[in-house]
Amino acid sequence: MRTPFVAGNWKMHNHRTEARELAKGVRDGLPVGTPVEVALCPPFTALGVVGEITAGSPIKLGAQNCYCQPKGAFTGEIAPSMLIDAGCTHVIIGHSERRQHFGEAGDLLNRKVRTALAAGLDVIYCVGETIEEREAGRTETVVDRHLTEVLADDLPPHRLTIAYEPVWAIGTGRTATPQQAQEVHAFIRTRLGQIFSPAAAQAMRIQYGGSVKPDNAVGLMACPDIDGALVGGACLAAKDFLAIIAAAAGSVR
Ligand code: PEP
Repeated sequence: MRTPFVAGNWKMHNHRTEARELAKGVRDGLPVGTPVEVALCPPFTALGVVGEITAGSPIKLGAQNCYCQPKGAFTGEIAPSMLIDAGCTHVIIGHSERRQHFGEAGDLLNRKVRTALAAGLDVIYCVGETIEEREAGRTETVVDRHLTEVLADDLPPHRLTIAYEPVWAIGTGRTATPQQAQEVHAFIRTRLGQIFSPAAAQAMRIQYGGSVKPDNAVGLMACPDIDGALVGGACLAAKDFLAIIAAAAGSVR
């Protein structure tokens, strides 16, 4: 049995005052004993205030990115150990917006994942195809490349979460159907079984991301290989994020 994992990717939203309010709303609205792992991933500047609000609660703190070196002359970058120092347990790596707008890919992402893990952060690693790739029938090829460029059997599978995020569904209001998502999740789990081991793959969480909202979350979370969500837009309202967490809780059998 895998504990679902729902993470909120706040992207470049919320100054510290708003961040405090949103984090409080999630913390105070989360029912005691919810059988879901929950993480908030605010921008770097709000990690401190969000960490103060979530301290002592089951809510984890995550960052949206980190650099691939442990320290040094890399102006403007953030080292994984700095994120730990700020209270993070998790970091998102390989989000499609990092791939698309900042040219991040294979080797760099590989080094980021390794540096983050070595520093003690657990990693949410994002994979997913564009609409052109899907329409060309290349979804599995692309997802496979994203997986094999970065994952290898010397990494600790229990510290990795995979987020399947079809690029065409991110921030577009267009979501994959549960069947489309389940097909890719099942493919990812098979590949994880080959990279690590079938037992390790069974224990790994694979989140779905891409316009997850309260009204589509129940259908997605009910799929056997979907183990939670990476949520963008809908995590900016505590009520909606809590409803998605409730949908994930409802999928626990
Ligand atoms: C995301 O940013 O990871 C995401 C899935 O965004 P949205 O939920 O807004 O599509």
